[in-house]
Amino acid sequence: MKTLNEMHLHFPSVSINESFARAAVAAVAGQLDPTLDELCDLKTAVSEAVTNAIIHGYQDTIGVVYIDCRILPDSTIQVRVRDRGCGIADIQKAMEPLYTTSGSERAGLGFAVMKSFTDKLRVQSRLGVGTTVFMEKTFSPRVRCNG
Ligand code: ATP
Ligand code: MG
Repeated sequence: MKTLNEMHLHFPSVSINESFARAAVAAVAGQLDPTLDELCDLKTAVSEAVTNAIIHGYQDTIGVVYIDCRILPDSTIQVRVRDRGCGIADIQKAMEPLYTTSGSERAGLGFAVMKSFTDKLRVQSRLGVGTTVFMEKTFSPRVRCNG
């Protein structure tokens, strides 16, 4: 499908950039006039993916997190969050709710949140190469009054 608009962003994997990334994606999504709930869901999903890249992907090192957004004509936004960190050994297992490699520190719900707050979620990863999370969300058609 034709791309109406796109945005590409990259930043160092420091926690303070997580809120910036979330706000940047929300600004792009705003072009589609989503409801507050829809926007909130997308921001939460992006936040989970970026936090994973920072915390799990790069762990104690600083790497680069890449975000690519595309707006499609049918009120759809695609967001790709990518890192060149450690990668995931078993993606299926990592995506199971409550699975975490961070012990009791984390809930293991990040992927579950991304899945329920978006329409499509795909994860690709290779050990030692990095992880790519692809999410897609289509906003509901809005009835507008043109005066
Ligand atoms: P929560 O998101 O609830 O704080 P969590 O991050 O452990 O906890 P998920 O986001 O569901 O839970 O991720 C599950 C597991 O997948 C992580 O514990 C981690 O082992 C692995 N993982 C997720 N994203 C990445 C990534 N970008 N790079 C490497 N490993 C990852
Ligand atoms: Mg997580």
